[in-house]
Amino acid sequence: MALLRASGLSKTYGQGRLRVEALREVSLSVGVGEAVALMGPSGCGKSTLLNLLGLTLPVTSGELLVRGEPAPTRERDRARLRNEFFGYLHQEFAIVESDTVAANVTIPLEYTRPRIGRRQRLERARRAVESVGLGWALRRRAAELSGGERQRVAIARALVNEPHLVIADEPTAALDLATAREIVTLLLSMRQRGASILVATHDPRVAERCDRVVAMSDGGLAAERTNPHAATGN
Ligand code: ADP
Ligand code: ADP
Repeated sequence: MALLRASGLSKTYGQGRLRVEALREVSLSVGVGEAVALMGPSGCGKSTLLNLLGLTLPVTSGELLVRGEPAPTRERDRARLRNEFFGYLHQEFAIVESDTVAANVTIPLEYTRPRIGRRQRLERARRAVESVGLGWALRRRAAELSGGERQRVAIARALVNEPHLVIADEPTAALDLATAREIVTLLLSMRQRGASILVATHDPRVAERCDRVVAMSDGGLAAERTNPHAATGN
């Protein structure tokens, strides 16, 4: 079963003269453990599609199934699904610089596991941080870390709830090549835990390492290809 299945998704922003048809009738599935790259020029609708599939934006029309079930419409249910099943990674990292690595990584747990104790929360943070190779930095302030290390903190935070889907919008755009490569390797390694990855990127080097590449153009899907060796080539 697909983790996500979208059929005929459309999204319109604004009304009247300000109306923008950002997505028209997009259909796309993401398999369990599959990494899908979305490519295309600025303004073609990549972020909009990520936000619809990631339940951070309501669809205008069309159908979206999450693990075979229609995506909920009530905000409370959507928030629960977002927090429990999805992890998000942004270009700007969205790390709180003045906080420790541990404090940054435990943020999602405050929503999903408000009742677990401080020790358990720290323990989960420690495991997530170790899985990205930053065990030594747990108690450091984020401001003391390099750009690549901060992005790894962001990955640890996306992982702390063991998500089924990681959504990444241009995760390497602000990084140098070597760091970008390392971050992509980490991101794709989440497949081994059964997570699916959906990544919007301008970088063909990122796309070629994903299992499937979907090219977008002007609010629609333009082309699609499978990278047969992506999984073994990483
Ligand atoms: P991409 O991520 O590929 O750059 P976006 O999904 O951000 O594309 O944008 C798709 C289209 O929707 C663009 O024309 C953009 O200007 C428009 N758009 C995006 N967000 C909004 C918004 N909040 N309000 C109005 N128009 C928007
Ligand atoms: P050079 O330009 O010195 O040959 P690069 O660093 O551009 O080396 O690329 C070396 C290899 O690393 C390429 O095969 C490319 O696929 C991979 N690579 C480089 N940058 C990235 C990136 N941002 N994401 C994924 N893979 C990358």
